[in-house]
Amino acid sequence: MINLSTFETKAVIIKTQDFKENDKLVWLYTEKLGKITAVVRGAKKSKSKFLALTLPLCYGEYMVYKGKNLYTLQEGKIINSFQGLLNDLYKLTYSSYLCELTDIACADNEVNIELFKNLVTTLYLLNTDAIDYELLIRSFELKLLRTTGYNLTLDNCSICRKKISSSNYINLSYYGGICDECPKEQGIFISKGAYNALRFLKNLSVDKLYRLNLSQEIKDEIAKVTTFFICNNYARKPKSLDMLKFIKE
Ligand SMILES: [Zn+2]
Repeated sequence: MINLSTFETKAVIIKTQDFKENDKLVWLYTEKLGKITAVVRGAKKSKSKFLALTLPLCYGEYMVYKGKNLYTLQEGKIINSFQGLLNDLYKLTYSSYLCELTDIACADNEVNIELFKNLVTTLYLLNTDAIDYELLIRSFELKLLRTTGYNLTLDNCSICRKKISSSNYINLSYYGGICDECPKEQGIFISKGAYNALRFLKNLSVDKLYRLNLSQEIKDEIAKVTTFFICNNYARKPKSLDMLKFIKE
């Protein structure tokens, strides 16, 4: 008999925390249930079958039981543990940032299949070294903003909606580019090159990113825009942003 409170779903472990003497709490970003928190009984015991399954970044197929307040992890099977990401400071910092961003941008139980797919693909690509890390992260940020309700308007003026071919200004309250007739205030100037790259990057799927090659100046300008929107729209500013800045210097 299938228990109606039991769910099976693919998920990535985005955060963990010790809980009581032997247990652990894990935050799973799941395909079918959105972000959930689950108790893992006995997870801290050395022989626990959950040990590898509940490490940060682990991507697997999980079975959870929905209790009154929390879920309980019942079973799981690893698809990719992504533990290779932990051996490199850059990859570790970037992947921690991806998990933290997903955590702060998503409310509990809000299903977002597109974001889930993007998170998994981005972790895979980060793990393979195929693509410039910074481009991967910027692309993830733009897709995260779009799928959580903060889509940037770049093909039209974000104030008067007139079609624009490019712009040198991003309005931070209207979430987008500005035409030559509208006032350039409450925003930031960026180069037209960065604007066009931003628009291209926003629409490019993650698996086609290898086609894109941007200068460091343009990447820095794009980072300024995405960082602003991320720091101002979600529950809190991601802590791993400081670590990212630190390792870049
Ligand atoms: Zn306008």
